[in-house]
Amino acid sequence: MILGAGFAGLWALRRLAQVPVDVLLIDRQNYHTFLPLLYQVAAAELEPEEIAYPVRSVLRTMPNAQFLMAEVRHIDLAARRVEVADRAVPYDFLVVALGSITHFYGVPGAAEHAFPLKTLDHGVDLRSHILTCFERAVHEPDTVRRRRALAFAIVGGGPTGVEFAGALAELIHGPLTKDYPSLDIREIRVVLVEALDSLLPGLPQRLRDYALSRLRSMGVQVLLQSPVTRVTADSLHLRDGAVVLTETVVWTAGVRGDPLAQAWGLPAGRGGRVTVRPSLQSPGYAEVYVVGDLANVEAESHPLPMIAPVAIQQGEAAAQNILRQVRGATPVPFRYRDRGTMVAIGRNAAVAEFRGRAFTGFSAWVLWLSVHLFNLIGFRNRLLVLINWAWDYFFFERAVRLIVPSEAAKARPDLLDATP
Ligand SMILES: Cc1cc2nc3c(=O)[nH]c(=O)nc-3n(C[C@H](O)[C@H](O)[C@H](O)COP(=O)(O)OP(=O)(O)OC[C@H]3O[C@@H](n4cnc5c(N)ncnc54)[C@H](O)[C@@H]3O)c2cc1C
Repeated sequence: MILGAGFAGLWALRRLAQVPVDVLLIDRQNYHTFLPLLYQVAAAELEPEEIAYPVRSVLRTMPNAQFLMAEVRHIDLAARRVEVADRAVPYDFLVVALGSITHFYGVPGAAEHAFPLKTLDHGVDLRSHILTCFERAVHEPDTVRRRRALAFAIVGGGPTGVEFAGALAELIHGPLTKDYPSLDIREIRVVLVEALDSLLPGLPQRLRDYALSRLRSMGVQVLLQSPVTRVTADSLHLRDGAVVLTETVVWTAGVRGDPLAQAWGLPAGRGGRVTVRPSLQSPGYAEVYVVGDLANVEAESHPLPMIAPVAIQQGEAAAQNILRQVRGATPVPFRYRDRGTMVAIGRNAAVAEFRGRAFTGFSAWVLWLSVHLFNLIGFRNRLLVLINWAWDYFFFERAVRLIVPSEAAKARPDLLDATP
C-alpha cells in the first residue's frame, strides 16, 4: 500500500507496477500535482490543470494497481491497517509518502491571514486574490487603502519565494499595468522578506548575489535580516519595527512534517519529519517505509532537502527494498544522487548549480525550462505549458487572468445561498 500520490508515492508505484505484486495507492486527491510550477498558477501564467495529472491515467497501464481516493485518518502500525473515512484497509508493506505541511513557525496571525502555497487550490485562490486586489484598487479613491491593496508581500527568500516574487513582478509590470492603465505603477509594491542575511541560502554566493540584484532590477523590494513577528489582515510586522501595509502576505518560508505522523506512532525527527533507518524503514516496523518530504534522512550529517528529486529517488528505493524483502533479501541503505539545483527568477534569468558548476542568466534559464518541461507528467500538459510559456515570452501576456468563484463569492456574499 502506498499513501500519497506525490513524487515519492508515484515513483514507488511505477517501480512496483513492473512486478507481480498487488498495489493500492491512496490519496485525498485524484491527481498528482507538479508542485515546482505551482507558483506559476498563482502568477496567472499556467492553468491549474496543466500542472496536475489524473492518478487514474497513470494507473491505466498498471493492471496490478488500484486507487482509493480517501483521506488517511490513522495508521494502526501494530495491526497493519490504514484507516480512511469508512473502512480500515490491511497491508503487507506500507510506503508512507504524505508530503509536508506549511510551517508558520508560530508567528502570530500567519496561519489565519497569510496565503500558503502548497496545493492547487492555494495557487488558484492566490491568483484570484491578487487579481481581486487590482479590481478593487482601480475604483478605490482612498490613497492608503489603494496602496494597501496594491502591496504584495512574500515571506521566505528560498527558491519558491524568489521564483514567485519574480513571476509576480513580471505579471504586474507587464499584463496588469496594461489591464489597469489608470493605476499609478509607483503605488504598486512587491516586497520579498527574508529572515537571514541572503536569499537562496545554500547556493553559492555568486548565485545568491545574482538573484538579489536581478530581483531588485525587476522592481522587487528585498528586505534581508527581517524576521516576521506578526501578520494581520492588512499588515505585516517585522522585528525591526517596520510595518508593511498589505492585504496579501504569501507564506513560502517553510514546510514541516505533518504532526499526524507522530500521533500515529511514527518517531519524530527534525522539522516534524519522521526518523527512519538508512534503508528508509521505520524503526520497529520493517514493513513500513517513510519517504519524501515526510522522512528525515541525513547525508553527511545534514538532513536531505525537501525537494522532488529526493522524494523521487526515495520512492524508488523504498519500492526496491520491498521487492528485496519479498524475495527474502535484506533492504539496502538509501543513497541520494544530487542532480543539482535550479531557480528561475524571470524572463531569461535563472540560477543553476550542477556538479559543482554555477550558471546564471539565459543558459541557466534554458536549463530550468527544459528540466521542468521534461519532468512534467503527461504529453498534453507539456504541450500546453510550452504554448503558455511561448505566448508569455513572445507577447508579454498572461493568458489566465480569471478570478474564479472562491474570491468573487467572498466579495459578493449576496451571490451565495446560505439556506440549509
Ligand atoms: C510551491 C512549491 C514549489 C516547489 N518547488 C520545487 C522545485 O522547484 N524543485 C524541487 O525539487 N522541489 C520543489 N518543491 C518541493 C517538492 O514539491 C516536494 O519536495 C515534493 O513534492 C515532495 O514529494 P512527496 O511525495 O514527499 O510529497 P507531495 O508531492 O507533497 O505528495 C504528498 C501527497 O500526499 C497526499 N496526502 C497528504 N496527506 C494526506 C492524507 N492525510 N490523506 C490522503 N492523502 C494525503 C497529498 O494529496 C499529496 O498528493 C516545491 C514545493 C512547493 C510547495
